[in-house]
Amino acid sequence: MARTPLIVGNWKMYKTIPEAVEFVETLAPLVADSQAEVYLAVPYTAIAPAVEAAAGSNIVIGAQNMNDSTEGAFTGEIAARMLVDAGAKFVVLGHSERRHVFGETDAFVNAKVKRAIADGLRPIVCVGETFEQREAGETNEVLQMQLEGSLAGIEELGDLVVAYEPVWAIGTGHSATPKQAQKEHALLRKLVGKQTLLYGGSVNPENAAVLMAQPDIDGVLVGGASLSEISFSKIVKG
Ligand code: PEP
Repeated sequence: MARTPLIVGNWKMYKTIPEAVEFVETLAPLVADSQAEVYLAVPYTAIAPAVEAAAGSNIVIGAQNMNDSTEGAFTGEIAARMLVDAGAKFVVLGHSERRHVFGETDAFVNAKVKRAIADGLRPIVCVGETFEQREAGETNEVLQMQLEGSLAGIEELGDLVVAYEPVWAIGTGHSATPKQAQKEHALLRKLVGKQTLLYGGSVNPENAAVLMAQPDIDGVLVGGASLSEISFSKIVKG
């Protein structure tokens, strides 16, 4: 059966509200005819304005992180239901920047995934090995451990998405080769079956199509190249 590709832009800590609105308004007509699902993970402050700007288009707005609690004394955190309230439809969880810069563990990611599902957000769960782990031949073990830890105790995965993002490929300009990426996706496919699998790590308009042509790559998670309407729309259009 033909897969509907899923293209997710992750803006990280970029774009103010006016910049986000302008981006969405410019992107919408460029991707209107796309067969792909088009997702943008925007900063918290831009969620509601971006949702409003995306109304009537095929662009879906989501968040880049959340806390696992419904509410509480957690200064600076945000709850899933607040994201839903702002109009978010999905959330990126366990991104390598969250794991490596902010020390998030598989157990914390797991709690967030459970909360996201319970509160109606589609989780996009990221896993990926560091350069050192790859060099040490630990890639399979690391991916399996992160995935099993992040999804522990979840019986029904629903529309949950898994993103393979090798840490050495994120923001470096050195994407995994299609062959390398497919190899890891085949492992993830064995672990999660029919769930949508994304590749992320220095995806750009030149390498996106060949990566997505791999049998177990259903779409891409795009950081840097999602910040420009031109490059992101090229990736969406293939
Ligand atoms: C990312 O932020 O998830 C990412 C893959 O970034 P980049 O495309 O810039 O490597």
